[in-house]
Amino acid sequence: MTNPFDLSGKTALVTGGNGGIGQAIAVALARAGADIAVAGRTPPDETRALVEGLGRRFAAIPADLSSIAPIPALMEETVGTLGGLDILVNNAGLIRRDDPLDFTEADWDAVLDVNLKSVFFLCQAFGRYALGNGRKGKIINIASMLSFQGGIRVPSYAASKSGIAGITRLLANEWAGKGINVNAIAPGYVATSVTTALRADERRNAEILARIPAGRWSEPADMGGPAVFLASDASDYVHGTILPVDGGWLAR
Ligand code: NAP
Repeated sequence: MTNPFDLSGKTALVTGGNGGIGQAIAVALARAGADIAVAGRTPPDETRALVEGLGRRFAAIPADLSSIAPIPALMEETVGTLGGLDILVNNAGLIRRDDPLDFTEADWDAVLDVNLKSVFFLCQAFGRYALGNGRKGKIINIASMLSFQGGIRVPSYAASKSGIAGITRLLANEWAGKGINVNAIAPGYVATSVTTALRADERRNAEILARIPAGRWSEPADMGGPAVFLASDASDYVHGTILPVDGGWLAR
């Protein structure tokens, strides 16, 4: 019997995979057999070493996703270098924190541009490629607990991640019958640079930990298994789901 989680011969594009959750997902997909491209601003040297150390091919694609301008070229370069594309992981993202009364247009636009606008247009480019070439495809968007909840002091982030849930469901409606699975992973509270400020705030850190049934912050590697599942044949009948990987936070 073949392993339904095997990604041998598949290729994956991960945005913002130079560290944190993106790197952990890139490595997990490579461990399952996929060749990897990482698109982002910072050279993903550590991710390259980890992926190539697993015997997989790796491509670094420079791209600033605060605008959608690089998307056509980055898709072309990924497909040209890896010889095709089966899996898209929309991971690149940022957060800006401030009181809603003081929140600036710049902090609104910076977050929405990367976290939502570029994600939609990357999905569109991937959809055009896969549907145009009669290929199956898997899209994994990175949502958040703030795809379900409001959060505190993060208006543009909450809007962007609620938007991710919306476009994930919309694209699943459009493409489920055409061989493309569109789903999202909603990480709980993960120890990365995005949450440095939260972990440094003693009161917020204690409040958050007290609500996590698993009793610990997530490590980026916790997202690897769910990403392999959503990238593999094992999830062929899973469409439009926002999968919480949260140590039980939402169950509380
Ligand atoms: P991270 O380590 O800061 O990763 C964010 C990634 O996004 C970095 O690779 C960053 O690249 C990239 N990025 C930001 N702006 C970009 C731009 N304009 N163009 C290209 N790449 C850009 O934080 P993380 O926690 O792993 O975040 C990854 C994803 O998970 C994000 O979508 C985040 O919202 C989501 N998430 C995180 C948590 C958590 O608790 N940590 C929870 C839920 C969801 P640079 O290094 O060049 O800035």
